[in-house]
Amino acid sequence: MSVTIAPEATTPPSATPGGPASTTRSAAAARERTADLEQLIVQNPGAYRVLTGDRPTGALHLGHLLGTVANRVRLQNLGVEMFLIVADYQVITDRDDAGDLPATVREVLLDYLAAGIDPECTTIFTHSAVPALNQLLLPFLSLVTVAELERNPTVKAESEAAAERGGRGTSGLLFTYPVHQAADILFCHGNLVPVGEDQLPHLEATRTVARRFNQRYSAAQPYFPEPDALIAQSPTILGSDGGKMSKSRGNALELRATEDETVAFFRRAKTDADRAITYEPERRPEIANLLQIGAYFTGTSPQALADEVGSAGAGRLKTLVTEAVTEGLRPLRARRRELAATGSRHLAEVLARGNAHANAIADRTLDDVRDLMGMRY
Ligand code: ATP
Ligand code: MG
Repeated sequence: MSVTIAPEATTPPSATPGGPASTTRSAAAARERTADLEQLIVQNPGAYRVLTGDRPTGALHLGHLLGTVANRVRLQNLGVEMFLIVADYQVITDRDDAGDLPATVREVLLDYLAAGIDPECTTIFTHSAVPALNQLLLPFLSLVTVAELERNPTVKAESEAAAERGGRGTSGLLFTYPVHQAADILFCHGNLVPVGEDQLPHLEATRTVARRFNQRYSAAQPYFPEPDALIAQSPTILGSDGGKMSKSRGNALELRATEDETVAFFRRAKTDADRAITYEPERRPEIANLLQIGAYFTGTSPQALADEVGSAGAGRLKTLVTEAVTEGLRPLRARRRELAATGSRHLAEVLARGNAHANAIADRTLDDVRDLMGMRY
């Protein structure tokens, strides 16, 4: 998730940098906007504040790194201000047992820091530690209808996935997930949200909430920005079973995995019956997935890698990819081990500082919102 932001959360941005925000966006328009934004970010990174994050449902995997974490590190290093939410309340949207949250949060923090997230520039915080953020849900919920939430494709997809896993009905928290996400993004006046194309409906909900709030309570000068989507260029990474790599499916290569586990993961990875290696994402998704992973770590293109392997076949491709991933992840894994060995105090401090910063901003925003709504007595 994430947008263009006001340098100070209390200062209502008068416009979205780089042009007026439209009311609704098609995927094509969002892609075009992403290309413009990439240029604007380089020219003026300080005009943007990104909100993004993860549910602490497990340690991060290769899909996270290629799909989002590497891009976050890139944006951070360009000088974009970033808020990284560890969305612990979202863990219980679709399950009764959140597991050992402190241990999982610690693993996610280790992954972030090892991957290059710098807590000196990026604010890492947890949902549950920022009450004012969560309170924004109340006014925001009044701005959407049940029918709109029912239509949200992401809510539908997540409800179906939850039902598949355990037959649990859609919880109220899952149903209102898009509004919670609006609070996550808008509490800090996030104006840039890195998303996959499939997450555009979510961001649309945030844009709707911002627009309606502004219309109703702050018409003279819009208080909340209508965040822009920054669409990820990266492909969806597949797991060992050929499905989307996912923490909950047990098909993932975790970033923290050992070299032996990495070898075993790629040995297990599905391929197909064709001998020669070609890059055809539609027809040969499993081979394309290996090529994309290998290309990422060797700094080449999937097509060039396919040409290089050619008739040597899937065995050769797997060997190349295994070596590339093992080499590519070696520094990250070494940093991760070092951080883990320094004990939990450093991680606790990182989170405490992030939570304190997020709270200061959320408190100001909630104060402003109460003023704008005439709820000051
Ligand atoms: P869960 O099983 O709890 O849903 P997950 O492994 O599917 O976990 P998410 O927390 O849902 O991971 O994903 C967070 C973000 O990471 C996604 O929005 C996406 O940007 C990125 N991501 C996750 N899995 C992949 C993947 N397989 N390929 C590319 N990007 C991914
Ligand atoms: Mg998921």
